[in-house]
Amino acid sequence: MAKTAVTGAAGFLGSNLVDFLVSRRETVVGLDNLSTGRLENLRSVWHRRGFTFQRTDLARASTLPRAEKYYHLASPASPPAYQRDPISTLLVNSTGTHRVLEAARRADARVLIASTSEVYGDATVHPQSERYWGNVNPIGIRSCYDEGKRFSEALGFAYRRSYGLDVRIARIFNTYGPRMDPADGRVISNFVVQGLRGEPLTIYGDGTQTRSFCYVSDLVGGLRRLMAAPKEVPTPMNLGNPAEVAIRRVAELVAQTLRIPLRLDYRPLPEDDPKQRCPDIERARQHLGWAPTVRLEAGLPRTVASLRAGLSAEPRTRPRRLTRLKRSES
Ligand code: UDP
Repeated sequence: MAKTAVTGAAGFLGSNLVDFLVSRRETVVGLDNLSTGRLENLRSVWHRRGFTFQRTDLARASTLPRAEKYYHLASPASPPAYQRDPISTLLVNSTGTHRVLEAARRADARVLIASTSEVYGDATVHPQSERYWGNVNPIGIRSCYDEGKRFSEALGFAYRRSYGLDVRIARIFNTYGPRMDPADGRVISNFVVQGLRGEPLTIYGDGTQTRSFCYVSDLVGGLRRLMAAPKEVPTPMNLGNPAEVAIRRVAELVAQTLRIPLRLDYRPLPEDDPKQRCPDIERARQHLGWAPTVRLEAGLPRTVASLRAGLSAEPRTRPRRLTRLKRSES
């Protein structure tokens, strides 16, 4: 039996988490339907002993592998990706979460559900602590993701209350770093890719809206600590970098990192785009002894290197060999 199952294993966050777990000698089974994840992301662990991969659509799968710990990360996560397929987004965060919780109940396992700062919506409280209930438009274009994750949290708590299942919830704020998909439309990947192509950087709205960006290795460390914490650890738990920055400033930092002149192209602000977002991470500091250590100025050059490599590899070749070798293990 695999020690640890990771859903969404081929995604940006999932694959970075898998790398980390495998490097700590955990036996890991990765699950992904490859709708937004990419097998290339698993290249570094593909042949490692202790790692297997199953191509699985959680909303349809009848059985999931038994494990002692489940990290449930599967979901489209960038606004363009989840808005392209809102129904699948809702299903993976409802039926998919249900399947994971059922598998964990049968195996008497521990579950970590990846939730999101989006549960706070266009927050009226700042910074956002776990006690804030949010300000979410239930029928807006972001609702498939926001409400999907809110449902996941509610279902997780229902399993805690009904079965005493050990469920932990991480509310993950904006995260960036190597393996971001150059085409997924997030602000950092967009700015870097635009800069590398010599195009102006697209600012939505006036660029005064804020976000707080956490480098992926910091985030992965937080997830592992949350999973390893005693059962009594408070949940949900915000995980993110409390250094808040305006989007226009992000554009300046990307231009500086790329050593290009700052050229901006202002576009309309998308519907329901939150104006201010910053995590209160007191709970994580206190109960996990966790806080991010990588500043945006340090994380950006590493992210640029990875996105540059991704662009020069285009058109992306599918690693067929990887698919063939590991499919048989599913
Ligand atoms: N944004 C932008 N230009 C882009 C992409 C995004 O100005 O090319 C803005 C977007 O409107 C939002 C912020 O940057 O205010 C963060 O967007 P992202 O899609 O990365 O994630 P979100 O935090 O909105 O889920």
